Amino acid sequence: MTIEDKVYAVEQVMEKLDREIASFQQWSTLHCKNGCGKCCFKPDIEASALEFLPFAHHLFREGKADAWYENLRESTSPLCLILDPTINGVGLCSEYKHRGLICRLFGYSARTNKYGSRELVTCQVIKTEQQAAFEVAVEKIASQKGEVPIMSEYYMQLHAIDPDMAREFFPINKAIKRAIEVILHYYAYR
Ligand code: SF4
Repeated sequence: MTIEDKVYAVEQVMEKLDREIASFQQWSTLHCKNGCGKCCFKPDIEASALEFLPFAHHLFREGKADAWYENLRESTSPLCLILDPTINGVGLCSEYKHRGLICRLFGYSARTNKYGSRELVTCQVIKTEQQAAFEVAVEKIASQKGEVPIMSEYYMQLHAIDPDMAREFFPINKAIKRAIEVILHYYAYR
C-alpha cells in the first residue's frame, strides 16, 4: 500500500466514524458544549501516528510540513499543538477535519467492559450538564438498543491499514511529529 493509499484508507475510517457519531448524537441528543474543548486540555492524551497521517499529508501538500515538524520538535508543551484556545465555535481544534481518532471517539463511543457490556466513554461536562439524556443513552447502549461507535472496532480498522503505525501510542504531539516524519521521509525518497 502506498502512503497515498494509507492516507485515503484512514480518511475512509474517519468518515465512517463521523457518520456513526452523527447518528449517535441524533438519537441520544448528546452534544458538546459550545466553545468547550475541555477534553483537549488533558496533558496525557495519547495517539498513534497513523491517525494523524491524513493531517501530515495535508500539511505536506500545503507546504507546511517542515515548519510544523520544527515546531513539534522544539515544543515542550504536553498540550496538543493543534489546539487553538482563541477559536470561536463548538470546540478549539484548529484542524477539525484532520483531527485524530481519539479526538473523534472521546465523548461519543463505547468500550466493552470485562463483563461484555458496552459502556459510553464520555466527559464530565456531558455527564453532568446533560444528565437525563446521558442516563438514557447509557441504558440503551448497555442493552444494545442504541447504536454507538465501538472504540476497539475503530482501532482494529486502523490496525488493518498499517499495524506498525497503529500499534504504538505516543503523547499526542509526538504522534503528530511521527506522522509528519513518515510523510517527509516518503516524499524525500520518491
Ligand atoms: S467531549 Fe466534553 S469536554 Fe470535550 S469538548 Fe465535548 S463537552 Fe467539552
